[in-house]
Amino acid sequence: MLDAYGREIDYLRISITDRCSLRCRYCMPDGIELLSMTDLLTYEEILEIALTAAQCGFRKIKVTGGEPLVRQGAVYLVSMLKKIPGIEQVTMTTNGILLPQYAADLKEAGLDAVNISLDTLSPERFAFITGRQELDRVLAGIEAALSAGIRTKLNVVLQKGVNDDEWEKLMLLVQDRPLDVRFIEMMPIGAGQNTEGISNEALLEQLVAKYPGAESDFAIHGNGPAVYLRIPGFTGSVGFISAIHGKFCRSCNRMRLTSTGLLKPCLCYDTSVDLRSILRSGRTREERAERLAWAFARACGEKPEEHCFDREEEITETRKMVQIGG
Ligand code: SAM
Ligand code: SF4
Repeated sequence: MLDAYGREIDYLRISITDRCSLRCRYCMPDGIELLSMTDLLTYEEILEIALTAAQCGFRKIKVTGGEPLVRQGAVYLVSMLKKIPGIEQVTMTTNGILLPQYAADLKEAGLDAVNISLDTLSPERFAFITGRQELDRVLAGIEAALSAGIRTKLNVVLQKGVNDDEWEKLMLLVQDRPLDVRFIEMMPIGAGQNTEGISNEALLEQLVAKYPGAESDFAIHGNGPAVYLRIPGFTGSVGFISAIHGKFCRSCNRMRLTSTGLLKPCLCYDTSVDLRSILRSGRTREERAERLAWAFARACGEKPEEHCFDREEEITETRKMVQIGG
């Protein structure tokens, strides 16, 4: 689908749950109220939406959450999404904790790639950032994904004074492994508004000072806005997702579907189109398909030219990242 600014929108990020096994401070702070299970889309409903999305021109799907692997049947969902004609790629973002259990099954289900979030290699800092002592399971999850032969990337969010001195240690994880690492700037969404991140520009300066041989890597690494560097002697690449200091809206290709069925044209505005009410309206399958297609067109038409993270007073999205789907 083309939006009003001529961008091809072909990437849908589907959140399948607002539950999570961690409590990352900037995403799902303790005490957050959980949705009722009946408010969440069923897998049948998600598949119906994905079918229409494919008919509207979407080609890539990311399964996310909350933590997608805590929802029973997530592997089955991946296998069904992979069967939808027109869908070329299904990937997942996970905290990695359940990958030792599910990586082989996800590979068999056809998962094309996985992003694993890991902000620190220190058990104490991990507990501080995520509220849980689960670092070893995440590290085991990374190894499980690699052993299963799934293309794997690490997502790192650096916080000032918490883990910003760890960028090099985290980068070294990709020196000898077929893994990429991406540094994601903290976005002022939900609890991210009260958490100070660091600028990828500043990080890049430090990195190039330390590794002067680093050069741009123009190979395609995924569906998103990351720009990559190759460092001589490193197996994996280092990516930067700079939502704040390197606005990438001109190449935006995505929409988000929340676990309750709201189709969001842009992360920072609360504008959305309610797909669940279409699915639960009692209409026939054909009528629903028509209305869903219309809803996709409407949401696409409502995509703004750019986000407003640099003008925080204009952000209208008030939910936490875990409730939207990261
Ligand atoms: N539970 C899975 C995980 O942790 O990868 C998937 C959902 S999580 C919301 C997806 C990604 O969003 C994670 O890499 C997380 O670090 C990132 N994230 C959450 N809140 C963020 C924020 N305010 N700014 C930037 N990234 C954020
Ligand atoms: Fe859970 Fe992922 Fe959010 Fe952390 S970032 S609380 S792992 S959903």
